[in-house]
Amino acid sequence: MKRLVVLGGGESGVGTALLGKQKGFEVFVSDYGILKKAYKDVLIHNEIEWEEGMHTASKILNADVVMKSPGISEHVPIVETLLNKGVSVISEIEFAAQFTSANIIGITGSNGKTTTTMMTHHILNHAKLSVAMGGNIGDSFAGLIGQNPDHFVLELSSFQLDGIQKFRPHIAVLTNITPDHLDRYDNKFEHYIASKFRIVMNQTKEDYLIYDADDDVINAYIQSHQIQSILVPFSLTKTLAQGTYLKQKEIIIKFKKEEHIMPTTNLALEGKHNIKNAMAAATVAHLLKIRKDTIRESLECFQGAEHRLENVLKINKVQYINDSKATNVNATYFALESMSAPTVWIVGGVDKGNDYSALFPFVNEKVKAIICLGKNNEALFKNFEHMVDVMVETQYMSEAVKIAYNIATSGENVLLSPACASFDLFKNYEDRGHQFKSAVRAL
Ligand code: ADP
Repeated sequence: MKRLVVLGGGESGVGTALLGKQKGFEVFVSDYGILKKAYKDVLIHNEIEWEEGMHTASKILNADVVMKSPGISEHVPIVETLLNKGVSVISEIEFAAQFTSANIIGITGSNGKTTTTMMTHHILNHAKLSVAMGGNIGDSFAGLIGQNPDHFVLELSSFQLDGIQKFRPHIAVLTNITPDHLDRYDNKFEHYIASKFRIVMNQTKEDYLIYDADDDVINAYIQSHQIQSILVPFSLTKTLAQGTYLKQKEIIIKFKKEEHIMPTTNLALEGKHNIKNAMAAATVAHLLKIRKDTIRESLECFQGAEHRLENVLKINKVQYINDSKATNVNATYFALESMSAPTVWIVGGVDKGNDYSALFPFVNEKVKAIICLGKNNEALFKNFEHMVDVMVETQYMSEAVKIAYNIATSGENVLLSPACASFDLFKNYEDRGHQFKSAVRAL
């Protein structure tokens, strides 16, 4: 019997443990932190051995294969010891993939993964294909294997891609690449870029890479590396010989001939970034031979994911928008870009070494007041103080929303788009978004 050790007892760890047990492995789960009760219950119920608050070397170093959860760095001592011993340390994605022969659509990028994954799943569902969605969103890939669908739509983070060896999606989507998580990549942007491109590493001439051709980082990498996959670019600005582009505000997909999919004005989600996401999802669907009427209908009714430019309420003709998931500058760039009225902007949190300069034109043009919501707002004041008349700070969401309420007038927006992580004042971005929505509803 082969021994599978799972490091990290969260969603992907427990999913892997269960799948491993089903497939006849001897399984041991080890977590240096504390497991959630729901996950403990699952492990106990399935008679899987586990530990928390420690990593017992003698129970780990004898593994045949180790699944490392994406949250654990390669530099923690137990992982380094395993790697030095030559034990195979893989991600849940790699482990699960060996147990399915279904069509895999893998979606990665710095921003837009969740939205594009959900849109793609929505279209495939609408087309009545047998499909399961998961990975870095919702259920783990390992946990979905038992459903045995014809298609998997997987959101993939760079950490999950770091742990693959043979994983080969038939259709890969790369939404964009902007600096993020550099602390886990030795502060080297090129390491992070290479990590994202691992999605194509095992693709062959029969597989597809759908990518944003307006992204300079992606273009530069493609030009300087040999990629086997069939390249399917999408662009908001260029007309392409092959790929997906715009012609008089219509989304066109061209392989041999031009297919008119739909006008962008009919997309349910607003913002240029969502046109890109829709293009990527529509291209996947087109490659799977889904009819364009189905694609169009699906994108007309797709409701966005929570905390992503989510319209919360209109009060006194002021629109309140929750974009709590914007944890980096690029995401906030698209949020500010899509504002079509003067905006009171709630921003701040844990600044990951942000360069805010890309936001300056939008702030000058559209932002009426800035409310800083973080423990340390120094960088925000330094960058934006001279651009707006009103700039205040608070550490309470309810207060931030009340101040915004007092400033915004009819026809304007209040936008929470922090450009920063949430851990200084909130549990996570969901908590931040929920607190924003409750505060708005309590006005
Ligand atoms: P991810 O799963 O990659 O974090 P999400 O779909 O959850 O992506 O979106 C994260 C944030 O990025 C949100 O604020 C959203 O409005 C913004 N966003 C969505 N799609 C894109 C895109 N294609 N380019 C830039 N920002 C985007």
